[in-house]
Amino acid sequence: MGASAGSDDFKDKYYTGRRNNGIYIPRFRNIGGETNQKDFTRGYGYQGGGGRSDWTKQIAEMAYGAAFKEATLKPGDWQIGLSGFGEILPYQDNKMTLDYNKLDKWGLPTVTFDATLKENELNMRKDMQQQAVEMLENAGFRDVKGHDGDYAIGLGIHEMGTARMGRDRKTSVLNENNQLHDVPNVYVTDGSAMTSAGNVNPSLTYMALTARAANHAVEELKKMNI
Ligand SMILES: Cc1cc2nc3c(=O)[nH]c(=O)nc-3n(C[C@H](O)[C@H](O)[C@H](O)COP(=O)(O)OP(=O)(O)OC[C@H]3O[C@@H](n4cnc5c(N)ncnc54)[C@H](O)[C@@H]3O)c2cc1C
Repeated sequence: MGASAGSDDFKDKYYTGRRNNGIYIPRFRNIGGETNQKDFTRGYGYQGGGGRSDWTKQIAEMAYGAAFKEATLKPGDWQIGLSGFGEILPYQDNKMTLDYNKLDKWGLPTVTFDATLKENELNMRKDMQQQAVEMLENAGFRDVKGHDGDYAIGLGIHEMGTARMGRDRKTSVLNENNQLHDVPNVYVTDGSAMTSAGNVNPSLTYMALTARAANHAVEELKKMNI
């Protein structure tokens, strides 16, 4: 969910390599302990970037000849895009189960996901698009268009969950050290421990959890507990 736009400015500016930096707009909804949005809790940030379009747009036109050759030598117009990264609340009934009646070709139970976006996320998505459009319009871009990638759970790049961490072994898979409640010599240190990453990038947290879990495993080994 987000928006994209073009610009007629900076036609004399170009870049080589990976010079154009990305954009990160931190969360601005419902922060500082206040809920300033009526129809959703928590929030979202934007990630995006700008650049000049290149020769790839010529492919669709199947063009040829001198004009085509000339066009491929010139950088295209400047474009910018913003994509929202919003939090999906950690709903108890969003879950993954193992189906022992349907095994894969190695005889292992297959995975069934039963998870949906709910009202909070759907309302947040509307705001995500509106605000992106408003920001680009107010910044003076032209041809501002909102877009909706028709997200379904699993299609994003910050997915997590399925083996949640928690104190109660009846309701959680992992304990506070990323160790299986039921099998203490097994540690699961990826994103599956999390029930939500908020709206921010998760990888550094996974790495920190992993380092802490590895340290715990070494200490437990030294004590001959595992
Ligand atoms: C395009 C893209 C850009 C991203 N950018 C960022 C970013 O800028 N910042 C950020 O914080 N996060 C980013 N992420 C998210 C981040 O990469 C993931 O959240 C993170 O890598 C997840 O870590 P993980 O250990 O949970 O899972 P993964 O890194 O997916 O590791 C799972 C591993 O399990 C292996 N595996 C799967 N099934 C089996 C099996 N049956 N047997 C054995 N092995 C198996 C897989 O091969 C894989 O190596 C990005 C993701 C994508 C796709």
